[in-house]
Amino acid sequence: MERIYLDNAATTPLSEEVIDAMVEVMKTNYGNPSSTHSLGQDAKVLIENVRRQVADYLHVSPAEIIFTSCGTESNNMIIKSCVDHLGVERIITSPMEHKCVAETVLDMKKRRGVEVVYLRPDKKGDFDLVKLEELIKSSDKKTLVTLIHANNEIGNLLDIKKVAEMCKLNDVLFHSDTVQSMAHMEMDFSQIPVDFASCSAHKFHGPKGSGFAFVRKASGLKGIITGGPQERSLRAGTENVCGIVGLGKALELSLDHMEQYASHMKEIKNYTRDRLLAEIDGVKFNGRSAEENTSLYTVLSVLLPFKDPMIGLKLDMKGIAISQGSACSSGASKPSMVMMMILDEEEMEDCTPLRVSFSHLTTKEEIDSLIDALKEIAASFNIEKTNVQHR
Ligand code: PLP
Repeated sequence: MERIYLDNAATTPLSEEVIDAMVEVMKTNYGNPSSTHSLGQDAKVLIENVRRQVADYLHVSPAEIIFTSCGTESNNMIIKSCVDHLGVERIITSPMEHKCVAETVLDMKKRRGVEVVYLRPDKKGDFDLVKLEELIKSSDKKTLVTLIHANNEIGNLLDIKKVAEMCKLNDVLFHSDTVQSMAHMEMDFSQIPVDFASCSAHKFHGPKGSGFAFVRKASGLKGIITGGPQERSLRAGTENVCGIVGLGKALELSLDHMEQYASHMKEIKNYTRDRLLAEIDGVKFNGRSAEENTSLYTVLSVLLPFKDPMIGLKLDMKGIAISQGSACSSGASKPSMVMMMILDEEEMEDCTPLRVSFSHLTTKEEIDSLIDALKEIAASFNIEKTNVQHR
């Protein structure tokens, strides 16, 4: 059976060029980057080249890039160290965060007694930034604001510049989980005064197990893994040289083709949206997902007008790999927090969320197959009788 992959927000297939670059490193650069001999130093040079490349992309200094094993580790390190080393006593966050932020914040509440304040979204999944400023100003406690940049379930984009400027003006720390947006859009941290951000290579055709944290210079952040002095002592442990090189190659390819990839994915997303609207009566889209400039072009979050908890399995049996929400919550029996925030009771009862997520490799033919499969499933629910209206 031909496989169709529409779960690119969960992970992306490795690019051939990335595989080649990594294999080359595995074969030839086996030195430990901490060793002083030339084999070690060759490996070190490879890492430092990628650090420079990432720093150029973000318009920051190489010393502000800390390589980690993934987005989860980067977010953990930042949040935990803000509490343990920077004296953060209060965290303002949202119910729209990825589990690796949400659970880490809760852990800090349980184990460190940190006060946690939630900024709730409206039904479109947007945040009221006036309310955010009120929350920031409502306490003298040392505060960290952590808000996701591009939501992994519905694609809503935060005005990261505005929030960063607000945090700076009010003297609070700001971390944004940028895992879904890194390498998919321009990111100029010389203009966006964010303190901390995160990245994961497997979201842009790089390897799993390779990411980085952006840590603003002189922030005072320390690592949570202790040991050797690697990564300026912020992340002990021998570096994943081939993973870092893979991240660098994937970033290079994304940046070289950014315009072309973005325009292809926008076209595919609009095509998917328009075909769904034309052919599935009562279909809706979650959050800002169906809009062009306020949501990430890689994600279309669909609300199907029938209840089918088995939809992922049914599509998989037809050769289509797709998630209902984030990969981390798709196996869970509970609906995702994001959906609970933006859907009303009737929609939760009667509808099925489906996250279609694209890459530059996605074709219209693959979308046609998805639409055919969804129409077949919808027909079995006799959806013509639905009275769910378009939002
Ligand atoms: N943050 C967001 C928004 C994500 O979508 C993900 C992955 O799904 C992560 C963090 C975690 O990244 P990783 O898989 O590299 O741990």
